[in-house]
Amino acid sequence: MSAIRILPDRVANQIAAGEVIERPVAVVKELVENSLDAGATSIEIEFRNGGKSYIRIADNGKGMDEDEALLSLERHATSKIRETADLNEIASFGFRGEALPSIASVSRFTLRTRTEACAHGTEININGGKLLNRKECGMPIGTMIEVAQLFNAVPARRKFLKTDPTETAHITYTSRLFAVAHPKVAFRVIDSGRVVFQSPACSDLRDRISEIWGRQLADDLIPVDWTHPQKGFRLTGLTAKPGVGRSTRREVVTLVNCRPVDSRTLGFAVLDAYHGRIQKGRYPPAFLFLEIDPSEVDVNVHPAKREVRFRDDGSIRRFVIEAISEALNGSEAAKAASSQTTPAPSKRTTTSKAPESPKPTPEKLPNRPSNPPPASLLKPSLAVVDTPQKAAATERPPVAASQQKPSSQWKLLNLMRQRYALFESSKGLIILHIRHADQRVRFERIKAQFQVGSVPSQQLLIPEPLELEPLAAAALLQSLKLLNQQGFQIEEFGRNFFRIETVPTWLTIEQAEPFLRDFIDMLRQSRFSSGKDPMVWDAIARLAVNGSYQKDDHINELTVQELAEALLRCETPHTSPFGKPTFTETSWRDLDLKLGDVQS
Ligand code: ADP
Ligand code: MG
Repeated sequence: MSAIRILPDRVANQIAAGEVIERPVAVVKELVENSLDAGATSIEIEFRNGGKSYIRIADNGKGMDEDEALLSLERHATSKIRETADLNEIASFGFRGEALPSIASVSRFTLRTRTEACAHGTEININGGKLLNRKECGMPIGTMIEVAQLFNAVPARRKFLKTDPTETAHITYTSRLFAVAHPKVAFRVIDSGRVVFQSPACSDLRDRISEIWGRQLADDLIPVDWTHPQKGFRLTGLTAKPGVGRSTRREVVTLVNCRPVDSRTLGFAVLDAYHGRIQKGRYPPAFLFLEIDPSEVDVNVHPAKREVRFRDDGSIRRFVIEAISEALNGSEAAKAASSQTTPAPSKRTTTSKAPESPKPTPEKLPNRPSNPPPASLLKPSLAVVDTPQKAAATERPPVAASQQKPSSQWKLLNLMRQRYALFESSKGLIILHIRHADQRVRFERIKAQFQVGSVPSQQLLIPEPLELEPLAAAALLQSLKLLNQQGFQIEEFGRNFFRIETVPTWLTIEQAEPFLRDFIDMLRQSRFSSGKDPMVWDAIARLAVNGSYQKDDHINELTVQELAEALLRCETPHTSPFGKPTFTETSWRDLDLKLGDVQS
């Protein structure tokens, strides 16, 4: 008896399914790509439970007749490629003919489809790869595919799925990318009956981004359009104004020949182009379309991933940096020119990430207008050292800790390199790391305020508008009550619109919007399911101390002495909230030993 045999199709499909569809978002991706390949101008994506229990994709593409519909579920059935030679010039998205049979082999699968030539549609039901029935059905031209109970029969795969919110986030993110890549196609995305976003066909990319991510983000972008004179590469799209940054790379979107891709080459090139124009560790929102001869790029690295490789990585990288720099220089020059006649109106720029205040090289920016005051985030640092002017400027009530002044056991000897402070005590010598110490002091102060629930706050003269994309808005809504008990007053003001009316005094007005955006990102990325998790406040306090003392902040001996005293009153004085040491101590005894002074 031979041990080698041809696998039954059903098994082969289930194996292929493991490769092609790792998780629900891959189903969405395959089905939407099929819809696009079918020439759809309107696509609806509906799902529940992160796609695990239900996914439905409906399109108005050309549809399939009954024979085509049956064939589409056969392995390696594809209408898109005939010979291997075609592989080098693939214009369509799918070409393996694997997706439909694979998906149908690991779910309860329903296909309904109709072509223009046919008066009725065809419905096919499959369960775990087994054809249950096929029948005529009434239906408009196009295709609808339902995928229910994904991986139910394949526990080994189901085990690897993440929580519903995580899978949901993947699906909505991927849907957004499709919508950006195909502005001329109308999209509607529905999660458990709730519309996540919808956008009609848009002729303009900025409109599309505005529909999907909100007007505020769209307004923060400038156009890019640059062509390589010899190689014919072209980069178009919209990219962040200098100084505009986000805490995640989620809005750094790169597309190659209209296909959203993950590419280290492109990602790094974008970051490089913003070097010196954005704070380190932040990411410029950017929606960039690279057009390139398909033979220059390999999109087929992994069937389920979006990675691409370029034949000539170095040229692409240099080209992208040049294209974005060109756009940024253009925008800066235009701004400089306009500032000579009118004062820079840019409220938006000043309220954008304060610590990202661009530090452009002077030669690139001859006449920079009165731009973001550098790093206002950094000012209200040193928790205990509110000078009278500062207190007046921000209405900051005196901090409890600074009211009593116990005589310090540490005596300041010297400030060193704007970074360290040298102290002596009866026990030895201490070197304090000013920034780490300041972070610790701020952290405990803010946390203490959270705990007692009395957070001193300040009202904004003019409420600050905050527009969010729908998922972010939903995340904020969940935490709104808590935020509003903690020194904020944020009002919902129309769909996905909010108004920040009051902020805690530990935030400056300029920090409010960037802080809230980071906070929402944190909520959405992190393990917290909602703002009700007490750990959230720990994390918030950590976020809040981001604005602590920086090397180039002004600092004097009195404030450092006070900082040391405040640090010594902290619950956990030895480390910053991020786990870095706040000071190091060398005892007199150790010094004596080291220096051979043995009598003492
Ligand atoms: P591939 O896309 O690689 O060809 P699929 O398994 O995804 O393989 O699809 C198989 C075939 O089914 C496609 O080549 C296409 O002819 C047909 N098909 C799939 N989805 C649709 C759709 N939404 N509208 C029209 N035809 C479709
Ligand atoms: Mg396909």
